[in-house]
Parts: sequence; structure tokens; C-alpha cells
Amino acid sequence: MSQAELSPQAAPAPESHAPHAPGFDAHHAPDPEIIADCVHCGFCLPSCPTFALWGEEMDSPRGRIQLMKMVSNGEIGMSETVTRHWDQCLGCMACVTACPSGVRYDRLIEATRAQVERHAPRSTSERLLRALIFQLFPHPERMRALLPLLWAYQRSGASRLMRSPGAAQALAPQLRAMESVAPPISLNRREPLMEIHPARGQVRQRVALLLGCVQRVFFDEVNRATIRTLTAEGCEVVIPAGQGCCGALSIHAGREEEGLRYARRLIDSFSRVDVDAIVVNVAGCGSNMKDYGYLLRDDPQYAERAAAFSAKTRDISEFLAGLEPMAPRAAIVARVAYHDACHLAHAQGIRRQPRALLEAIPGLEVVSVPESELCCGSAGIYNLIEPEPAAQLGQRKARNVLSVQPDALVASNAGCLLQITAALRDMGADIPTLHPIELVDASIRGIIPPALARVGKGIARLS
Ligand code: SF4
Ligand code: SF4
Repeated sequence: MSQAELSPQAAPAPESHAPHAPGFDAHHAPDPEIIADCVHCGFCLPSCPTFALWGEEMDSPRGRIQLMKMVSNGEIGMSETVTRHWDQCLGCMACVTACPSGVRYDRLIEATRAQVERHAPRSTSERLLRALIFQLFPHPERMRALLPLLWAYQRSGASRLMRSPGAAQALAPQLRAMESVAPPISLNRREPLMEIHPARGQVRQRVALLLGCVQRVFFDEVNRATIRTLTAEGCEVVIPAGQGCCGALSIHAGREEEGLRYARRLIDSFSRVDVDAIVVNVAGCGSNMKDYGYLLRDDPQYAERAAAFSAKTRDISEFLAGLEPMAPRAAIVARVAYHDACHLAHAQGIRRQPRALLEAIPGLEVVSVPESELCCGSAGIYNLIEPEPAAQLGQRKARNVLSVQPDALVASNAGCLLQITAALRDMGADIPTLHPIELVDASIRGIIPPALARVGKGIARLS
């Protein structure tokens, strides 16, 4: 189909076809065979968050694939307007789940983003923002070094001031977004995690745990709850030394070389331990690690090891679903809304296991969030680089959460927890947010999770 043959609604803006804009290069270009799988049926449109926001064909999966096809055929180049439509995609993969023809949009957008990063011009401010993000978030030690500053900022009351309507208008939306999703900082230092955590009772499995980057700095308690649960269920837990970033943020943003460097390093550090499974408690990291085999497919040194690594990777809920529960659970009487993280539900097809894990806790009522297929707007670094649509999606998710009147919101991804917490807070709702494993851990230990105890809404122990 030529540019002239596109319907007016489907056509990108004319200025988008600047003749100098380059097309795809030959390195891992979006696969024309996958592009051809799309039969333009439009079944994916209702599940696409950007189409839900703007109703614009070119901001739907079908429109974005059409742009890939046209660039691939050399009909148009990667102009600013064309790349903008791809940049605005959250990479949430809801369209992959929705597509009856099995179009691997995930493969297409990943390849496209890497092409965009190599060829599309970015403004200075955009480049600076991305440099800041990628110099910071994949480096836990750098984030830790900033904690005292962030703590002082939050304690000074400046944070409240910055969130006031006047100040918020004065800040660049990207800075406002960063400020808004930052969790409350505590400077209480905890004992570093040991390398080996023995199983309670007879050893059923030996597993290695990914600590994550943002996860180990801001959600250390989730990692500790994961270790306590695994050991209580008869698993020896190993924390491979020297583990760094899994590369998910880089890969999902098209920074292919950087992401693959992180992937190789992680494979190296985990290959020093002999385990039955590699367990991960962050949906975005897990989906990336399960993709290592594909990502490193043409690396002769790593292809085989990467495939073996991916085959062993399990989300914590998926791993526990395969183990007969051994540790008794005490009751936690609460109503929790379970949010499907996109990289768990759409990218890994894991929906039933976290719900089953929660429903096995006596007294716990688990409800789904309406429009559960729609992304919350977090999407890796999306809420930092595309703050406006991200905020709209965050508010929509928060409204949906509030509509089911839960005592708490539960999600298996650090980014979703930060994003939904901020959206709920901005709507004046004091709803605690937790990772599912924190509830399982609390139930096994016979305690009420501190986040629930803090709000004290109808929470009581039965046993
Ligand atoms: S990945 Fe998400 S935002 Fe992107 S096209 Fe698919 S449904 Fe839309
Ligand atoms: S991606 Fe799938 S659901 Fe969407 S238009 Fe193409 S074939 Fe239809």
C-alpha cells in the first residue's frame, strides 16, 4: 500500500515524510513476515491504551504496524511524526494478547525501537533526560547514593510544595513525573542480604533470586518477603554475587547494545551457581529475562547459555504455583484489588497464579480491577518520558481501583506499584499498595502487613 492509498484517517501527517528521514537498517529490522501477519481486523484496538486515550488510528497497534510496513517498504522514512507514534506506544503488549492472528507486535516494536534509537534525531532535552534515566536506574549504588538527598527533600516539606498546583505547573512535566512517583524514603539501613538462605526443613528446590535495580533500593522488603516465603516453602535461596541490571529498561527503550551487555553480565553472574530455577519478583525484569534466548540468538558465545537461562526463569507466583504449599497460612481479613501488570499478564501470560496464591490466604478477598487489560501508564520509563498520557492512564487506573473499594491494591511490578500509588495519592485516596508476596509472607508469619496495619481498615486476624 502506498502512502497515497492510506485512508485519510490512517495517514500520518504530511510533514512526517521528510525525504531525508532514513528507513530501517539491516540489523534486526522489524520482520516483514510478522508485519504481514497483521490482517488489519482491528480486534486489538479496544485494548490499546493510546487508542483508548486519543482514538487515533496511527496510535493503535494496527496503525503502528502499518507505519512499520511503509518504512520497511521504503515508502516513507522514520520522520519525527512517524517515530512519535512509535514513541507513544507503551510496549504494554495488550495487543499481543488481543490479536486473534497471533501477531508478535512485541517483536516488532522492540526491533523498531532499536532502529529509532540508532537513526531518529532526538532533541537535546530528550537526550539529556534519557541519559539521566539510564545513568541512574540500572545502577543501584548510584540510586543509593542519592537517597539522603531525596530523604532531605521529602522531609523538608518541599515535596508537598512541589505538588501544589502552582509549583507543579512551573516544573517540566518530566521532572514533575519523577518527583511524583518517588516513594517515601527511609534511611534505616538493614543488614545486607546473605548469599545463601537455607531452606526450612527438607530442601525441595534450590533457586537463585534476582534482586533487581529499582527493586533492591526501593522495594527491599519485597525481596526479603520473597526469600522468607521461599525458605518457608522448603527452598534454599541463593543470591548470586555481583548481579547487576537485567537490561529490561534498556531493551524496552531500544538501547539494544546496552541491554545485551547487561544481559550477558547477568547470565555470567548466575552461571556461577547451580540451581533448579531463577526466580524473579518484578514482571518487567522477568519478561526480559525469559527473552534472553531470543535477544542473544546470534551471539555464538551466549546463545545457548541465554536460552538455558530463559528456560529456568520463573516469576515468583509461577514458581510457587508449581510447589505444593507446605507452610501454614494464617488469616488476613481484607479485600484486595489485584492489578495485572502488563509484563506479567500480557508478556508472560501469568494471570491465574498470583490470584491463586492470594486466594489461598484465609480471609483474603481478591477482586479484579475493571479494564484490567489497560496499562496503568508506568511501562518501564514511559511515565518519565511521556508523563502526560502516563498520568491520564494512571488516573484511569486509580479510578478503576477505587470503584471496587479495596482495602489495598496488589501488583507484581515495582513500576506499577509506584505509578498507581502516586495516582491514588493525587486523588486523595490512602490505599496501601503491596506486592502479592508481601501478603503471602505476612500470612505465613502470622502478622498483618505493616502497610495494611497503618490504615487499619477492617483488617483483623482470625488465627
Ligand atoms: S503495546 Fe500497548 S500501547 Fe503499544 S500498540 Fe500494543 S496495546 Fe497499544
Ligand atoms: S495486530 Fe492483530 S488484532 Fe490488531 S489489526 Fe493486526 S491482526 Fe488484527
